Amino acid sequence: SPGFDSARVRADFPILGEIIHGKRLAYLDNAATTQKPEAVLRALDDYYRHRNANVHRAVHELAARATAAYEAARDRIAAWMNADREEIVFTRGTTDAINLVARSYLAPRLKAADEVLLTTMEHHSNIVPWQLAGAKTVAAPVRDDGSLDLDAWRAMLGPRTRLVAVVHVSNSLGTVNPVAEMIEAAHARGIPVLVDGAQALAHVPLDMRALGADFYTASAHKFYGPTGFGFLYARRELLEGMAPRDGGGDMIETVAFDGSTWNEVPYKFEAGTPDIAGAIGAAAALDYLAGVGLEAVAAHEHALLEYATARMPTVPGLRLIGTAPDKGGILSFVMAQAHAHDIGSILDQAGVAIRTGHHCTMPLMRRFDVPATARASIAMYNDREDIDQLVDALKTVARLFD
Ligand code: PMP
Repeated sequence: SPGFDSARVRADFPILGEIIHGKRLAYLDNAATTQKPEAVLRALDDYYRHRNANVHRAVHELAARATAAYEAARDRIAAWMNADREEIVFTRGTTDAINLVARSYLAPRLKAADEVLLTTMEHHSNIVPWQLAGAKTVAAPVRDDGSLDLDAWRAMLGPRTRLVAVVHVSNSLGTVNPVAEMIEAAHARGIPVLVDGAQALAHVPLDMRALGADFYTASAHKFYGPTGFGFLYARRELLEGMAPRDGGGDMIETVAFDGSTWNEVPYKFEAGTPDIAGAIGAAAALDYLAGVGLEAVAAHEHALLEYATARMPTVPGLRLIGTAPDKGGILSFVMAQAHAHDIGSILDQAGVAIRTGHHCTMPLMRRFDVPATARASIAMYNDREDIDQLVDALKTVARLFD
């Protein structure tokens, strides 16, 4: 697309130069995890070389540097989300963030027969934590094109609904859910909403003030940052009313054998030495994303999605699953001739990295009556050559299994 130099972006990601089985790498497994630009690798290296120390309680220069960089990362993330810094709780990722809400927010408020209203396209990490917290999980249906049946979802909002939780962008289908509309509908009934933004942050502009979400979760490794780091956004008053989940260093105000008191938000949810490098790397990733420009990225990815959506069905026996009108750069598919796993292995030999399986969305696989799909997912550094390499390899699969 115009104004977007995908060759230059690609050159920022050193790993994309790897030769795979003698072939150019077409990395199309971005929904699983994204690659890291030089700027993020440099930030991590710089931290360990020049600033490494434990954060907070700083009485020496390195600890002051580490703390400054770590807390600057919170400011960076808060600015990206249009939230206050106190509303950003650092976590290990989306899974950890949802588990925190399930344990510290939902569990103590849960009454018998209370429900968490989900959709059939939720990731396991937005299903199982609610069940572990003791809630009954119910899910609104997904239409044949992979879009949410919003009318059915509305009809399921009821007096037993204690919380609504919904994926912003489906990792299996690419479907973008109408989360603003859903939040409005839930709030009209006084029901709080958690949005799982794991697949959204690197592709969709986010504004917590405008969106009105009560909880929003993200994982840095899906937005060009390091693994093992993510965050929970939560409205401040909700955080204030939640008890900590984990006890330990840093989350306390005072500790005594007859009882302890908690630090202020967000620190009362951050027990122990945190992933300092993870926070710094995540902030560097947001700076990089902002430098390229999220709007340009989204336009580029959309153009590639359209290109792939037109080309992939030219492969004999291939069927796309998930063709919702509002869709991110994720292409799930099955082939009449071959199992998803065989597709993935043959593509690997051609230098094409995709993912196969249930993508942690077993209820969705059941809905579409498939055990697994093959999934190609697009990031900012992908180009038409990647899609052509994918389609050529898929044609080889069709020929081999004919
Ligand atoms: N939700 C969605 C939609 C995801 O795609 C993922 C990652 N596959 C998760 C949640 C879990 O994220 P993480 O593994 O980073 O905690």
